Amino acid sequence: MATEQNKLPAIISHCKEYGFIFPSSDIYDGLSAVYDYGQWGVELKKNIKDTWWKSMVYMHENIVGLDSAIFMHPTIWKASGHVDNFSDPMIDNLDSKKRYRVDHLIEGHAEQLAANSEEASNAILASMDQLLSKDDFAGLKQLIIDHKIKCPISGTCHWTDVRQFNLMFSTQLGSVADDSDTIYLRPETAQGIFVNFLNVQKSGRMKIPFGIAQIGKAFRNEIVARGFIFRMREFEQMEMQFFVRPGTQKEWYESWKATRMQWHLDLGIPKEKYRFHDHVKLAHYADAACDIEYDFPMGFKEVEGIHSRTDFDLTQHQLYSKKKQVYFDNDIDESTGKAYGNYVPYVIETSIGLDRTILMVLSEAYTEEDLSTPEKQDSRVVLKFPNKLAPIKLAILPLMKKDGLSEIAKELMNECRESFFCFYEEKDSIGKRYRRMDALGTPFCVTIDHQTKEDGTVTIRYRDSMEQERIKMSDVRNKVLEALK
Ligand code: ATP
Repeated sequence: MATEQNKLPAIISHCKEYGFIFPSSDIYDGLSAVYDYGQWGVELKKNIKDTWWKSMVYMHENIVGLDSAIFMHPTIWKASGHVDNFSDPMIDNLDSKKRYRVDHLIEGHAEQLAANSEEASNAILASMDQLLSKDDFAGLKQLIIDHKIKCPISGTCHWTDVRQFNLMFSTQLGSVADDSDTIYLRPETAQGIFVNFLNVQKSGRMKIPFGIAQIGKAFRNEIVARGFIFRMREFEQMEMQFFVRPGTQKEWYESWKATRMQWHLDLGIPKEKYRFHDHVKLAHYADAACDIEYDFPMGFKEVEGIHSRTDFDLTQHQLYSKKKQVYFDNDIDESTGKAYGNYVPYVIETSIGLDRTILMVLSEAYTEEDLSTPEKQDSRVVLKFPNKLAPIKLAILPLMKKDGLSEIAKELMNECRESFFCFYEEKDSIGKRYRRMDALGTPFCVTIDHQTKEDGTVTIRYRDSMEQERIKMSDVRNKVLEALK
């Protein structure tokens, strides 16, 4: 049985064995912090994307979608501040030649301290936050030295100075390499939204407040990538930028915090598994920011960021592109009796990592159950996904191939497959097939047997309770549809 400590390795091997997630380039021994989604992972991913898209775009009349290109004009990243500021303070150990993110190294040490003294652990974290907020790199190195923080590989304190490393990947556009042709793989999808703000506003006749939502790949050359799909070099984000009237950003920030937390709770994950974490050091563009943290197997960590980005991005793009990024607001300001007029909107961003959400959903769903009886040792691994996220909704299992049972099963398959994803299997014993469906997180299994031929009924088996009941085959489709509502 996996304990909380080895739950993550158990999830990683389950994902590989059952076709959810594979290391990228597996036959070449993988590529660090890059992963491929297999046949069931891709369904889970799609269902999470659909849930997010529906809640953001279909459920809000004033939010529309966008799919902007990954490659963008390089000046965008100058304007956004990423060329100058998108970096992490790093330190190298001279003996092991390993590079660490300074905050991760200190946090790791604080975790060890916490075993003996919560107070000592909090004190070092508070000092770190203070030094980070002042970009005091000499102070950070001194903190590491003073606390005798060792490299986990070499075990020595032989450290370089703390330096900044930019996290953007760059490449060349066109066939002749020239510095001026350097472009970046986007490190966030947000900038694609900002540079399309006026295109969408004008073509969609959008009135403030309104939002633009986008799901897409982002790339970061994370120096230390760990935690499976928690920190990847190529990942997906689901981001929404909400454009508001200046001065109303505080209210909207609070409102989006509540809306997004509700989305998480609607996944069926209990409240105590989440917490908000307010940022101490605000990014260069923000006037308020927090993370929604989930209690992953490795502890509470960020899954989503909610940021009040002010008018920073649009103002910067106005400056660099020399194109006005203003909105004309003809609503009447009650305090002056005049229209609000032209302004650069403020922005509230909600940004959630798709892959981190998948890890969260997997962590929540992964369950090992001891089913032993006095006669027999037994156990099962079951992924208790919410019905709407389960890759396969219904497994259709003829008891045997012969006697026309597989034909009846295929009829049911044809009746249901347009409405939701079904899976057909006739190999192995029924018990083995049920266990396999538990491991894939399939909420419903239906068995077709000889009685089906006589009275048109089938056995439906429920994943979580493992209970079975006999229902009419003609009711199966509606029963599953009802459960998906
Ligand atoms: P972290 O502090 O963990 O590096 P961040 O604060 O840099 O994250 P944001 O820039 O706010 O992250 O990005 C928004 C979301 O994108 C994060 O909440 C996270 O879910 C996701 N994300 C960011 N970096 C990665 C990554 N390397 N791999 C997977 N998801 C990521």
